This record gives sequence, structure tokens and C-alpha cells, in this order.
Amino acid sequence: MPIQSVNPATGEILEELEAASESEIDHAIAAAHATFQRFRATSFSNRGRWMTQTADVLERRKHELARVVTLEMGKPIKAAVAEIEKCALTCRHYAQHAERFLADEPVKTDATRSFIRFQPLGIVLAVMPWNFPFWQAFRFIAPALMAGNVALLKHASNVPRSALWIERVVEEGGFPKGALTTLLIASGQVGRILEDERVRAVTLTGSEPAGSSVGSTAARAIKKSVLELGGSDPFIVMPSADLEKAVTTGVKARVVNNGQSCIAAKRFILHEAIADRFTARFVESMKALRVGDPLDEKTDVGPLATPQILHDLDRQVRASVAAGARLLTGGKRLSLGRGNFYEPTVLADIPEGAPAYAEETFGPVASLFRVPDIEQAIRLANATPFGLGASVWTSDEAEIDRFIDGIDSGQVFVNAMVASDPRLPFGGVKHSGFGRELGVFGIREFVNVKTIWIDMKKSGGKSELSE
Ligand code: NAP
Repeated sequence: MPIQSVNPATGEILEELEAASESEIDHAIAAAHATFQRFRATSFSNRGRWMTQTADVLERRKHELARVVTLEMGKPIKAAVAEIEKCALTCRHYAQHAERFLADEPVKTDATRSFIRFQPLGIVLAVMPWNFPFWQAFRFIAPALMAGNVALLKHASNVPRSALWIERVVEEGGFPKGALTTLLIASGQVGRILEDERVRAVTLTGSEPAGSSVGSTAARAIKKSVLELGGSDPFIVMPSADLEKAVTTGVKARVVNNGQSCIAAKRFILHEAIADRFTARFVESMKALRVGDPLDEKTDVGPLATPQILHDLDRQVRASVAAGARLLTGGKRLSLGRGNFYEPTVLADIPEGAPAYAEETFGPVASLFRVPDIEQAIRLANATPFGLGASVWTSDEAEIDRFIDGIDSGQVFVNAMVASDPRLPFGGVKHSGFGRELGVFGIREFVNVKTIWIDMKKSGGKSELSE
């Protein structure tokens, strides 16, 4: 079946591309394997030069690439430019620091010399989502290639143009052919690629069902996997918070990427002392957002990426309202041509069990909750299967400590929205997945942590631990 690139703002088919045949997939695996045999022996300085040149290509082409992204998945064009810039920054970060992150680590034992060496694994399969088509891929590609691995990229089926551009950008950066290969394939073909002995590991960013399926295949084939899955992040506001800043950041954190971000603030947990004031200002700001053409620089919220996402979000809102939730604004599709537009929406008084209570809402829909104290706030924050990020707003040091200890998530941001940063590890707990991307932890996910023990002592020089 052909793979289509469809403009979500208009419904127009931009391009139909041929999916890779079985023999093309075999050829790509063989080529990647052959490249790895040479690539693993290249120096950090060579890989760093190619990675820096890749950053240069991204920066030089950023407007062109941003347009590809916006046309294909609908994010506002300014956000698409920022996404490409962040990829360039991350390429430079790993070009500069990978050698230090993966330097031999001496460990004192009773060997003459013992140390840890980090070596590449081989071909890593990357299964990626459409929501940040370049960023999701590059935050894996930059550390993986700098570590000496090679990669096969299976991108989401609705962003084939972005997927092909990613391969081209890496090649223009100077990396050898086969270092990063895009495969235009359906999700049903992922299993057989992962089972191939030459493919050593997999990273998947996407939904819980996709993670569970790919993670099981990896486990059966005894292969390393990193899973970056969904989230239903809390955004907690306490009485001592800077309310203006909390409202402005809260709106941004909810509608980032048209509301389709794993770390978007989805559940707003408000201390009752400030709940009315926060709600009034928040609803006003959500109503003021401009929804429309994502190519227009003034647009705040573009279309959802596919008709299915629009349908699912609408169903979650309707079911929540039917269960008793109160609609403070929005709550329906917007008819702007054939685009997948949805009104910025705020729900309150959501009963337990309603979809907006704990499920991930992937669109501009905020769920508001009220709590009497910090313990109730933490209990509610943790009342979800997910554990990706959390944003908490307070100027009380004791509360900050309590939140850091009490929230079950991979990251806690205090008086700021949750965001990824190439210098810091990123990932989740519970159903949000396992493993980390970015920072030093990210580059050490796909390496063989090899223990080296060298004994140069002559016989008679007995070790204490050898008996
Ligand atoms: P998705 O439907 O799970 O798709 C993600 C990728 O997995 C796509 O390439 C998809 O291919 C593939 N896929 C889906 N089912 C599969 C299966 N059974 N076997 C193998 N591959 C499979 O997710 P999405 O709708 O693109 O992305 C949204 C989700 O990703 C949200 O839940 C969001 O929170 C999560 N996300 C998480 C992070 C994070 O860092 N934790 C970041 C961004 C997004 P096809 O497109 O061909 O189906």
C-alpha cells in the first residue's frame, strides 16, 4: 500500500510514496550491517565533524525543512523552525561531548588495570512518532551515531517526507551511506526487522500499545529496547506560586504542538486557595488563542495531525462531559475547511473514570482539578498509569522537596514547563516507558558496557579476591 503525506490543515494529499518492498528492506539491513563494520572503527573526531556538518545543514535548510514538517503534520511554522534549530543544537552537543561521555572509565580493583569501555552495539532500529518528526528522530540519531552505531529509521506513516529528509540531511552532513537509512514501511513490518540477527536493539517513541508490542518482540529476540511512551502530565499550582506566570506557562504547556506532545501539561491540579483565580485567567487565555493556518506566523494552534486523532479527542471530551464533567470553553470541532481543527477546550469537575481524568488527551484539551492540600495534589498527580513529567508551581522550599520525592515521574520541573534539553536525561516511569534519551544517560543506552580486567602480575603475587 502506498504511504501518503496529507496536509492536515486542508485534507489535500501532498504525495503518495511507495512503501519499501521486502527485498528493499533486506538490502537496507545488509547495507547498514556492512557500513557498521567500517563505521565502528571511525574516530570520535571524524564522527564529530560529520555531526557538526549535519548541524550546519539543519541550520542552513531550517526554513525549508520547517515547511515540510508543517505541511505534513500541522504544527505552527514558528514551532517547526524551533524544532529544527533544537536538532542542530543537539547534534553540536553530542559532537562536542560524546568522546568524554564514552571515555574509558578506570575502576580500582586487584587487577593490574581494570576499566570499563563503551562500544557500539551495531544496527539500532528507531520507530518514531509524527508529533516532532525531526526532533524525536534526532534526539536518538545524534547520540547513537556519535557512539558508533548505525540506524534504521521507521518513521510514522503520516510523515514520510520528513523521514526522507532526515536521511538526506545526515548524508549531506557527510556520514557514510548506510549510517542512517529511512525505511518507508508499515508498522506490521517492524517485527521481522527486529528479529533479524544483525539488528541489535530498538528504540520506540510512541503510544503505549506500540511500545508494548515492539518491547515484547525485542524481549523475545533478547534485544535491548528503550521505550518513550505516552504521558498525562500534571501541572500543579500551589498558593505561593506566581499566578500570572503559571497561567501563561500553563496555556503554552497545554497547547504546545497543537496539544500533541507527550510532555504537554494535561491535568491542571489547583490548590483551592487559588483555583478560582487561576481558572478564570486560564479560560480567558485559552479562548484568546488563534486557531488556524499553521503556515501563518500568527497562529497559536494548528490542526490535529490526522482525522483519527481529531475523532479520538472529540470522543474523550464528549464521554467526559456525558460522565458529568463541566465544559468551561470549547468542546467541539472547528469547521475550517477540511482541516482537523479542534477548539481549545477546558474541562472541570471531571469525575473519576471519565477519559479526561487520567487518560492522555492528545490535543488542546485541559482538565482542571481542585485539591485542598499538597498530599491530595500528589495523590491525584500519581493517579494515572503514566509517569513522564510533572510541572509544579510553588515558592515554598518544603513543598518543592515534597513534590520531588512524591511524584512518580521521570522529571519534575519547578516553576517551569516540562521540556527536553540535550544536556539532561529524558524519559519516564510506569506506562510512560523505560530507558533514557539525551544527556550522558542517552548515549549510554545503546552501547556494550564492557568490563576489562588486565592482570600483569607474575605467579606468586596472589590477589585477595582470587580465592
Ligand atoms: P503510535 O501510533 O504509537 O506510532 C508511533 C510509531 O510506532 C509509528 O512509527 C508507528 O508506525 C509505530 N507503530 C505503531 N504501532 C506499532 C506496532 N504495533 N508495531 C510496530 N510499530 C508500531 O504513536 P503516535 O500516534 O505516532 O504518537 C503519539 C504517541 O507518542 C503519544 O502517546 C505520545 O505521548 C507518545 N510520545 C511519547 C514521547 C516520549 O518521549 N515519551 C514523545 C512523543 C510522543 P505507523 O505510523 O506506521 O503506525
